[in-house]
This record gives sequence, C-alpha cells and structure tokens, in this order.
Amino acid sequence: VGRLDGRVALVTGGGSGLGRATAVLLARRGARVVCLDLAGDAARSTTLLLESSGQDHLALSGNVARQESVDEVTAAVIERFGRIDVLVNSAGIAEGKAATLDQDLAHWQRIIDVNLTGSYLMCQAVARTMRDTGGGVILNLSSIAGVIGLPRRTAYSASKGAVSMLTKVLAAEWAPYGIRVNAVAPGYIRTAMTERLMAEGRLDLEAIIRRSPTGALGTADNVAEALAFLASDQARFITGVVLPVDGAYTVY
Ligand code: NAD
Repeated sequence: VGRLDGRVALVTGGGSGLGRATAVLLARRGARVVCLDLAGDAARSTTLLLESSGQDHLALSGNVARQESVDEVTAAVIERFGRIDVLVNSAGIAEGKAATLDQDLAHWQRIIDVNLTGSYLMCQAVARTMRDTGGGVILNLSSIAGVIGLPRRTAYSASKGAVSMLTKVLAAEWAPYGIRVNAVAPGYIRTAMTERLMAEGRLDLEAIIRRSPTGALGTADNVAEALAFLASDQARFITGVVLPVDGAYTVY
C-alpha cells in the first residue's frame, strides 16, 4: 500500500460523499488532510472523523468557483502547513435534468462554474505552490458522464468531458515541474448527490444496476482507493490518465 506519511492533501468537496471518503482514506494512509467545502460545518464534521489518525487536520469553508475564495483557501493551507502535496478536486454539483431545448443559460452556467471553472481555478492556484515546493499530485473527479453522453445532463456531461481534457493538458504542461495530474471517472455511487437526484425522481438506480455488467453499484471507498493509489509514489509514472472506476459500465 502506498503510504502518504508527511504529505499534505487538500480535498475540495471534502464535506460529503466521495470527497469525505477520500479524506478519510488519505488520513489513514498518513496524510495531513485539509477539507474544503462550501458547507464549512460539513468540512468540520469530516475532520472530526480524521482525528483518530493522530495527524493534524484542517477544515475550511470556501467556494471553488470564486477566484478570491480559491486564493484565500490556498494561502490558508500554505500558512498552516507550508506546502500542498496532493489536491483532490471533488467539489461538484449535478443539479437538475431537463431536455436541452428547455434549459436556460443560468442552469448551464452554474454547473460549468463549479465543475469546470472550479477545478481549473483550484488546479492553477495549487500548482503555483507545487511548482515552488518541487512537485505534487493533482486528482480531478471526472465521471462516466465525461466518457459517454448522458441525454439531458448536458452541462454536467460537458463539464466532466472538459475536466478529463483539462487533466491531460495540465499533465503535459506541468510534468516538468514534477506535478502529476490524473482523474478518475466514477460510475454511479450512492452519495448525497445521487440521493438528491433520486429524491427528485431524476435517477433510477435499479435501471442502472440492471445495465451494469457487474450487477452492482460501486462505493465511495472504491473511488477513494483509486485516488489514494494515484496520489501515492506507486503511481509515480502515471500522469494524464482518466481512470474509470465504474465496473465496466462504459465499455459497451
Ligand atoms: P456530494 O454532493 O456528496 O459532495 C460534493 C460536495 O461538494 C458537497 O459537500 C458540496 O457542499 C461541495 N461543493 C459543491 N459546490 C461547491 C463549491 N462551489 N465550492 C466548494 N465545495 C462545493 O457529491 P459526490 O457524489 O461526493 O460527488 C463528488 C464529485 O464526484 C463531484 O465532482 C461529482 O460530479 C463526481 N462524481 C460523482 C458520482 C456519483 O455517483 N456520486 C459519479 C461520478 C462523479
């Protein structure tokens, strides 16, 4: 198992779902973890879960889609820990689902702002610090929606396809700085995000399970394990990949 002792990991969207599961696993592998979330209380409740690891952890509230907030958060982590070794961009939204012809610009813009622009701003701000400290690892959350086109999830699918390409561009551009950039593309996982879509009647998990070659949904831990591996030195020659963690959902 790739240990992360002494590393500082910043997890956006760390207050819930995949971000929370990843924060917990990275701390168990020895990292000091900073949880960033729009919901500061949720970020704090994640760091309470991490206390037993014996490391120093930090909860921050902030908005990845706003430049000032991204700059403030990055500065706060550097002030506290002096470096950022791992960035996991798990903050994301998937609200709404409507025929593209019935959508409006505000809906499109909200999702692009958080999922795509938020990932871009975080990558840029944190990579500046990684360049100065000699390198690091950046991990983005793409999705099966970035691999196959999901009808009526227009902005979400487009944002995730773009996050995958952002990952490749930055991997190529920042390799000389010792910064690896990878993404995972999870299938449907039960989290607050998917529970909300189900409650709105916009997601049918039973139908998804029937379509899945494995006949099962993945778990947040499945995704966290992939991210922890990519964050570790065991993955030192892996950069620019988008790793599906979907039980073969997108292979046919
Ligand atoms: P979630 O809703 O459980 O957690 C997302 C967290 O991000 C929340 O705590 C939310 O407060 C935070 N957040 C939202 N906007 C933010 C902002 N502007 N700034 C800071 N924090 C913000 O969702 P999840 O299921 O854990 O999803 C995490 C990531 O994984 C997302 O990018 C999502 O698109 C992606 N993903 C999820 C699934 C799935 O099935 N759950 C599948 C593929 C990809």
